[in-house]
Amino acid sequence: MSISNTSLEEIKSRLDIEEVVSDFLPLKRKGQNLWACCPFHDEKTPSFSVSPAKGIYKCFGCGAAGDAIEFVKEIEGLDYLGAMRYLGKKYGVQLEETEITPEVMAQQGRRESLFIALGFAKDYFHQQLLHHHEGKSIGLSYFKERGYNEQVVKQFELGYSLDKWDGLLKQAKVKGHQEDTLVEAGLVIKKDEKVYDRFRGRVIFPIHNITGKVVGFGARTLKADKGAKYINSPETEVYQKSKVLYGLHQARHAIRQQDNCYLVEGYTDVISLHLSGVPNVVSSSGTSLTEDQIKLIKRFTNNITVLFDGDQAGIKASLRGIDMILAGGANVRVVEFPQGEDPDSYSRKLGTDQFKAFLNGKQKDFISYKTQLFLDQAGDDPINRVATIKEVVSSIAKIQDPLQRAVYIKQCSGQLEVDESLLIRELNKKQLQDSGGGRQVITVPEVVPESPPSPKNLPDTIAVQERESIRLLLNYGDHQIEEGVNLRQYFFNELEEVEFKTATYRQILGIIKTDLQKHGAVDTRRLMDQASSEVKKAMIDLLSERYEVSSLWMDRFSIYVPTEKEILSNVVFSNLLRLKYRIVKKLIAENREELRMAEPNEQQKLLQVDVALKKSRNELAKQLGIIVSD
Ligand code: ATP
Ligand code: MN
Repeated sequence: MSISNTSLEEIKSRLDIEEVVSDFLPLKRKGQNLWACCPFHDEKTPSFSVSPAKGIYKCFGCGAAGDAIEFVKEIEGLDYLGAMRYLGKKYGVQLEETEITPEVMAQQGRRESLFIALGFAKDYFHQQLLHHHEGKSIGLSYFKERGYNEQVVKQFELGYSLDKWDGLLKQAKVKGHQEDTLVEAGLVIKKDEKVYDRFRGRVIFPIHNITGKVVGFGARTLKADKGAKYINSPETEVYQKSKVLYGLHQARHAIRQQDNCYLVEGYTDVISLHLSGVPNVVSSSGTSLTEDQIKLIKRFTNNITVLFDGDQAGIKASLRGIDMILAGGANVRVVEFPQGEDPDSYSRKLGTDQFKAFLNGKQKDFISYKTQLFLDQAGDDPINRVATIKEVVSSIAKIQDPLQRAVYIKQCSGQLEVDESLLIRELNKKQLQDSGGGRQVITVPEVVPESPPSPKNLPDTIAVQERESIRLLLNYGDHQIEEGVNLRQYFFNELEEVEFKTATYRQILGIIKTDLQKHGAVDTRRLMDQASSEVKKAMIDLLSERYEVSSLWMDRFSIYVPTEKEILSNVVFSNLLRLKYRIVKKLIAENREELRMAEPNEQQKLLQVDVALKKSRNELAKQLGIIVSD
């Protein structure tokens, strides 16, 4: 599925960063910009700024930066097309999906009608819980007993299914849903020409995908003798259990803000943690964690804390799943609960403050937790101790970052009372096995060879000056430098002969030039649009630097800092001088290198070049007030 270019253009033309961001954050105007506490890291005073004029945001605390599209991608955990769909909806732009074959159309139609049926069922169950006498007296009172308040009932859209065979089925038909669709959505069951509700006499936990659409349900019986405690929706076209995490939709902002995600076992744990003021929590509900689920979490944070029930049998079984989280490149911590308690029961027992303190206090990094767990069980038995070492090393081998691996090896060598070199050898063996012998093995410590200095490796001061040039060009291109000459023209005149050395800045310069030729003017949003994502990031950095900071200072301390605009001619002039000076210096170094290698008949010419270069270098140095010695 793809979206046509015209509708993408249409959306981009309507984008207003202030409108987009203020759907998520309360923005306050201060000076030219709008400010809020950053949604991407935890903070108490606002350092997240939005510049409506430039169409970008930037956080001076954590460095997050981008345009409106980037903001939606980040905050909702969407990819580019996902973000454009979101924005299309917001701005009422019909996304013409191109190249839709009849099959694709039929499939889309089918998925859409499944979503509609599931959404209907969710509303129906919710209404029964709140308004039907059976729902209220049985379902709602059960939730109240568990300590659920109105807010979580609403937030998680909890429901109740009446204790009869056709409660949902009848209503759904009245509303025009096809029987086939209801079957395909897993809401009703068709057996020997009989059709009946899947969920009967149970409280209902809707399962949302990341965007908040309901894809399935979990349903808990309230009677001790009525079959399975929980029954769940089957896999359907819109519900692949391995790709959904219960609670992620409700938790995603909190996960990003806390930069941590708690992982629990089930529905009731997720909701209880919310009630205890811990909203950054998800559950893989019933099944063991999958790689896709880890990827989902990693869109929002790299830190995962697994909460274990306090029974030893369960713990060892869960450890394998955690190796997968390590392999996914996340940092894993664990909290073990007391015997007989799970996160649901224990959070209710302790209450909000004590429970939070418990989570923070009991948190252990996974490797040392696992090491201790196995050591305790091994006792003094040498055979068990060897098995323990192998176990622990096999987990460390899963970690991607070599530095992190090295740190863990060191730590475990202490914990296990085994020589570090021995663990390293075991680690290498294990990694060789894991990779089928193909992967290169690291040795700790790694030795990085120092490269000999050469003109090409000189500290890249030219890059610094090129960066400054582009920054000025992007921010003040239209600014008048002299009578009838703006900064951009001035630059282009002065730098006609110069080719930028840094690829990113060369590309930005190219884009500016083409934009100018095409439109007779330059528009930063248009520039960003044409750039690759890497170049765009660089642009945003340059667009949001320095001037913003100084205006912030002015606001905060009511002192007068001359703005860059006011001293721009000087800034530009000295930037250009410095750039030229550095380029000439580099040319001199390169020329001398050439001279050293040159045949005698070429030397004379190169020496002349050297003299000429030195002359212009000295001229530039004089203007810059620099003293040169050779
Ligand atoms: P209780 O009130 O007896 O503690 P519970 O509803 O909290 O019951 P538990 O048996 O404690 O359920 O299980 C904890 C979590 O594990 C549940 O919230 C549920 O999400 C999940 N779970 C348990 N059994 C199943 C099942 N058969 N299918 C899917 N999930 C299940
Ligand atoms: Mn329970």
